[in-house]
Amino acid sequence: MHELSIVMSIVDLATAQAAKHEAIAIEEIELDIGCLTSIEMDSFEFAWKQGIKQTILENATRKINRIEGKARCSDCGTYFNMLQLYDSCPQCNSHLAEIISGKELKVKSLVLPD
Ligand SMILES: [Zn+2]
Repeated sequence: MHELSIVMSIVDLATAQAAKHEAIAIEEIELDIGCLTSIEMDSFEFAWKQGIKQTILENATRKINRIEGKARCSDCGTYFNMLQLYDSCPQCNSHLAEIISGKELKVKSLVLPD
């Protein structure tokens, strides 16, 4: 499952960070997940619960920032909100657009215990 492999890579990253600081747990983790990624939030929730069991993230508070999709039309230059990947420009219907935000998938911050 796609989402589970994402969760596992987040666990790996958090584990590496904690090791660097000799921490045995993560207090809080904040994630940026863009609306234009292919992540299904329901599956992600499910994968999260499975994936963090007995890891450094097991008791961490999790925050998720959903980043809205924004794009700029390559033909007419209009900026618009993109709800789905490959939405066309509302001005000229062009399908060529430069995506400005919404494809984020990253750990924004990790809080380690004092
Ligand atoms: Zn356009």
